[in-house]
Amino acid sequence: MNTVDLRSDTVTRPTAGMREAMAAAPLGDDVFGDDPSVNALQDKIAALLGFEAALFVPTGTQSNLCGVLAHCQRGDEYIVGQLAHCYRWEAGGVAVFGSVQPQPLAHQADGSLALTDIEEAIKPDDPHFARTRLLALENTIGGKLLPMAYVEQATSLAKSRGLARHLDGARLFNASVAQALAGEGKLAQQGVSRDSIVKEARRIAQCFDSVSVCFSKGLGAPVGSALCGSRDFIARARRLRKMAGGAMRQAGMLAAAASYALDHHVERLAQDHLLAQQLAQGLATIEGLQVEPPQTNMVFVDLAGAARAKAAGLVQHLAEQGVQATGLYRLRFATHLDVDAAGIERSVAAVRRHFQA
Ligand SMILES: *Cc1c(COP(=O)(O)O)cnc(C)c1O
Repeated sequence: MNTVDLRSDTVTRPTAGMREAMAAAPLGDDVFGDDPSVNALQDKIAALLGFEAALFVPTGTQSNLCGVLAHCQRGDEYIVGQLAHCYRWEAGGVAVFGSVQPQPLAHQADGSLALTDIEEAIKPDDPHFARTRLLALENTIGGKLLPMAYVEQATSLAKSRGLARHLDGARLFNASVAQALAGEGKLAQQGVSRDSIVKEARRIAQCFDSVSVCFSKGLGAPVGSALCGSRDFIARARRLRKMAGGAMRQAGMLAAAASYALDHHVERLAQDHLLAQQLAQGLATIEGLQVEPPQTNMVFVDLAGAARAKAAGLVQHLAEQGVQATGLYRLRFATHLDVDAAGIERSVAAVRRHFQA
């Protein structure tokens, strides 16, 4: 019996086609800039999102680190959400390595940062204050799609105040699929064309000076992210990547996996969104489970009433049933390309058995 691993969309294994693409990749030494597969990937993602240049990096964490530090100097600050990955989940890297101060803000219910909060957080030019240099947003955030109108407003506000704008788009393509489906009034099971998805990805990306995208989440590559921006910005980021120890040699094998993911695994993200909806619908029929209707591939469930008393043993019980998830009173389930409808049914049944035993 296969395990249904819903802990994260990072857990996927490369498909047979992806492994073939990796094995066949032409290679060079990327530190000399002559790995053809890395160069091709960088050109592909930059062109796709409408940027001059891109940089392949081992992780999303390093992509955000290089991105924020390519925008900010020592003593600068960036405005960011309390729950944003590049504030909360990156071990304080930009402060440790760059002496850049975060200015975290509370999120609204939809994941956004209130425009008035952003406005008030921008410091005047005064020796008391750090220099506010950057606004960093994340989309999707906690599985939620930031409304396009909001992204436009927040980034125009930042621009009008002289701030640079960075997007942590680890799941930019999940956001783009959700936005394309909504724009065309379609359901996840109907799917949406690659052109529509790319158009939405670009619309989002073009509100920013830099965008980081993960290939190792829903896109299903084993490793890798790309940071996109202007040529000058990417030249600065390349130096920072070297400093952070992220300049790799025959990285083309990894870039080939990422490139394969971009070619083959974008449209199929709609299936992950559909499975998330099916999981949410199944879980919502269980007493005491408060299920947030998923917008993309993440399902969050809060335990209420009697279900709370049984929270402690749940993750263990699920593991014994071949289902993996994370959380305690608030559970998270992520769908991805190694999960199918049968796995979702099994997961719902296993959760039900725990609470209704
Ligand atoms: C996973 C993730 C990252 C970091 O990616 P790693 O490759 O795990 O370092 C950054 N931002 C967001 C929103 C993520 O979900």
